[in-house]
Amino acid sequence: MTDRPASFTPPSAPSGTAPAPRPVPSRRLLLVHAHPDDESINNGVTMATYAAEGAQVTLVTCTRGEEGEVIPPELAHLAPDRDDALGPYRGRELAAAMAALGVTDHRFLGGPGRYRDSGMMGAPQNERPDCFWQAPLDEAAAELVAVIREVRPQVMVTYDPQGGYGHPDHIQAHRVAMRGAELAAAADFRPELGGSHAIGKIYWNCNPRSAVEEGFARLRAAGHTFPGIASPDDVPGVVPDAEVTASVTGGRAAAEAKTAAMRAHYTQIAVDGPFFALSNDLGQPLFATEHYRLVHGVPGAADGVREDDLFAGIGDTVGTQESTRIEEAAE
Ligand SMILES: [Zn+2]
Repeated sequence: MTDRPASFTPPSAPSGTAPAPRPVPSRRLLLVHAHPDDESINNGVTMATYAAEGAQVTLVTCTRGEEGEVIPPELAHLAPDRDDALGPYRGRELAAAMAALGVTDHRFLGGPGRYRDSGMMGAPQNERPDCFWQAPLDEAAAELVAVIREVRPQVMVTYDPQGGYGHPDHIQAHRVAMRGAELAAAADFRPELGGSHAIGKIYWNCNPRSAVEEGFARLRAAGHTFPGIASPDDVPGVVPDAEVTASVTGGRAAAEAKTAAMRAHYTQIAVDGPFFALSNDLGQPLFATEHYRLVHGVPGAADGVREDDLFAGIGDTVGTQESTRIEEAAE
């Protein structure tokens, strides 16, 4: 700062004029996840790729993952049955992961700590009145409506109705995302939350069976340091290949960003090269290509051809970078 001449004026803000409103990127992607780490495992390449291209990438995480198991022994005291301090810690891990992915817009649904991790299905934590599983659907969805109407994404990514693998918070995240999208588009729902906005395309995360089986074959052949190997059935959202409608393969930088983001979730994930393990210590492949099923909106590729861009087919309707500003976009 000291080497600036006294008359220094930033070129974009001539003296005497108000700074121009920040232009809103013309492509806007919203992802809705249950816990810190889910976004990096499922969508790290996708998020890094679109962020690097200048799209607005907004992540909404529904809980801070307070009930997660802690892998590093030196951090075992964070666990819910000891200090119960995992939520804020995982919030910081998530911030580091977002920095690795180049994503600057991250929010917790309703604010940090608004909804607590519900624990695995059947756990007594499912009954806690402050847990996400117990949240009234339309109340939680209204929190997402406010984000949708502010950000005005053309594309949303979330889980399938089983939440990929049946965790109550993943199931609830799916419900909240889908209900939030529906309510955000309804002009008569809570107009004080912003002008209505219809999301053009909605995708569910998935993993084609052939890619999962190939990944495990690669893991078995490679040698690794994990105590054991998971099975394809442990991978969330495995579907027949024919059900996959979009595949996003980022470049090397995006794959490296995903790996770095997963490493940032240090309490939850142990990364070993192109493989990783969760708290069960079972190795599984880290996928550099991420897959999706389009469940709402018009495909941007011919019948039977997978999209390679989640925004495919809606580019002409999203407005230009110059003309699309949040305040103007309100309908
Ligand atoms: Zn999760």
